[in-house]
Amino acid sequence: MVNDDQKLVLEVGALARLVKVLQAQGYLVVGPTVRDNAIVYDRLESADELPIGWRDVQDGGRYRLERRDDSARFGYAVGPHSWKQFLFPPQVMLWRGKKTGDGFQVAPPAQETPKYAFIGVRSCELHAIAIQDRVFTGGPYSDPHYQAARRGIFVVAVNCAQAGGTCFCVSMATGPKATFGYDLALTEVIENGRHYFVAEVGTEEGGAVLEQVQSREATTAEVAAAEEVVQTTARQMGRTMETSDIKDLLYRNFDHPRWDNVADRCLTCANCTMVCPTCFCNTVEDSTDLSGQETERRRRWDSCFTMDFSYIHGGSVRPSARSRYRQWMTHKLATWIDQFGTSGCVGCGRCITWCPVGIDVTEEVRAIRESEAPGPDSQQDWEPT
Ligand code: SF4
Ligand code: SF4
Repeated sequence: MVNDDQKLVLEVGALARLVKVLQAQGYLVVGPTVRDNAIVYDRLESADELPIGWRDVQDGGRYRLERRDDSARFGYAVGPHSWKQFLFPPQVMLWRGKKTGDGFQVAPPAQETPKYAFIGVRSCELHAIAIQDRVFTGGPYSDPHYQAARRGIFVVAVNCAQAGGTCFCVSMATGPKATFGYDLALTEVIENGRHYFVAEVGTEEGGAVLEQVQSREATTAEVAAAEEVVQTTARQMGRTMETSDIKDLLYRNFDHPRWDNVADRCLTCANCTMVCPTCFCNTVEDSTDLSGQETERRRRWDSCFTMDFSYIHGGSVRPSARSRYRQWMTHKLATWIDQFGTSGCVGCGRCITWCPVGIDVTEEVRAIRESEAPGPDSQQDWEPT
């Protein structure tokens, strides 16, 4: 029996078997693959669909794929997708209604939630899932759709071997090494002509799956090589964010002129909220067929950047770009801490990469912080998840 103290080595070919074992256990296997010039998360039929030999190059408002000079399976940072699209899908049917002779009948949609196995989950993404767990299931009311998708997922985490140009997980204490929330964690090592994975077991289920995949005990040198991979990644962060006193920093700068500066650049397009793995704003819409006989209610993603989202009779309470960007950033980094006891940001950098004008949340925090001189000498005011 594989135990959780053991570190095992899997040769690259063993990934194919891992996918097959998970499929045989009834999982819908989802992982990274190349589509539309990006690395996205999609259903995998085999390990051949992984982004073999690709890296991503990221900066503010910039994302490109480039060929690597090796055949790394996970040699990229994160793409535009996150796991939230499976656990909290962009659109969910809540119910359908049908007119009957003297009234109407309401029926819940007949939809089955797949049993997911996620392959390639990064440490920052495990933190993002933990944050959404608190949002959707941590309070007195649990979201049944989230719960149904979340229950029983199998997670294969992959420790990052390359930081993206917009990553700052080290600042947010969310990476690059996975420390919880996985069944199996892999570190991909490519050195001296060798290519292998060092595997760690997080749960009994993970151990049972690994027993069906060919592996062997890792040597001390292989374990050290895997640790070096993660440490090198930690030193390569594309961005940094000083988080000490961040909640109070933002609270006391509600009227800072920097909000006008960012409003001059922000298109209020909502891209940052769509790509963010923790954003959870949503709205509910009803639609009726043309004959008026049938209706349905759907929940779909929304964003604090849309005018409608904060519409209360007579108008939006956040009518300007200034008020909407301030709401988003202050919620992520300050009020979220009061609401959920954690930051709403895991430092994945997606909002920076996918902002069409390259607005950078780390730069905005820095600008506000640097305008306060000297800054207060206080401690980090939240505990990492
Ligand atoms: S705010 Fe930006 S960096 Fe932070 S978790 Fe969301 S997308 Fe990632
Ligand atoms: S910050 Fe960037 S991505 Fe977000 S709404 Fe403004 S322009 Fe769009």
